[in-house]
Amino acid sequence: MKVKKWVAIRAVLALAMLGLAGFEAYRIVENPSNQLFGKTLVRGPRGERVVALTYDDGPNPPYTQQILDVLRAEHVRATFFVVGRAVQAYPRIVRREVEDGDAIGNHTWNHGHLVLYDGSDLRRTMERTDAAIFAATGVHTRIMRPPYGSRDWLVLDEVRKLGYTPVMWSVPLAMDWEYPPAKVIAARVLRYVVDGAIIDLHDGNQGIVCARAHVAQRVCDRSADVAATRLIVDALKREGYRFVTIPQLLSMEAIARRKSARAGG
Ligand SMILES: [Zn+2]
Repeated sequence: MKVKKWVAIRAVLALAMLGLAGFEAYRIVENPSNQLFGKTLVRGPRGERVVALTYDDGPNPPYTQQILDVLRAEHVRATFFVVGRAVQAYPRIVRREVEDGDAIGNHTWNHGHLVLYDGSDLRRTMERTDAAIFAATGVHTRIMRPPYGSRDWLVLDEVRKLGYTPVMWSVPLAMDWEYPPAKVIAARVLRYVVDGAIIDLHDGNQGIVCARAHVAQRVCDRSADVAATRLIVDALKREGYRFVTIPQLLSMEAIARRKSARAGG
């Protein structure tokens, strides 16, 4: 009887440990700064007073246009990681992003976890999104961000083969999807901004096309991100930061790398 009890306890403990290992693996897969699976851009060069504002999951009217209005009024450029299905629904908003001088990134067709895709599904979701972006804007993007930050060796290998640079973020997510007030979003972001920081906000919700999806209006409400954008831009301008797009940050990175390679001999 006693032996059986110990067997049961050990089985429960083993299961709990397996669960913990699984949770830890999942945490590593989605950790934005982990370079275990291959190199991603997490932040720009140190010693440059620049910051990159990025927005995921749009386009999503009217909030994306409201963010664009703020950026335009502030003479600030940002980067939008767009979801293919939303690009197809709202091509004109993406065209405006490009016309305003903002950069576009590929955030897949329907915001899936890429670690669950095989190679051909992964290529399909990237290429279909690229085609929608090109149809809307006439440009191809060479940067991408995996939804949820979810990636592994296969994902990064495939996206690199397709010619993309994977882009993460350095400022911990402000959890803007939980609808905190703008002030809270801004405070969560500003606490972690350093030279070369990449900020990740959301102008949409997983690319859901709310006008068609029969979901509660709140699902797509990004008004707090609009107001937070204004607060963040104002605060960082006061601190002397210049706003750059991700392609600009990448070329600064490349220059810094060449310089340090020369300095190293
Ligand atoms: Zn996303």
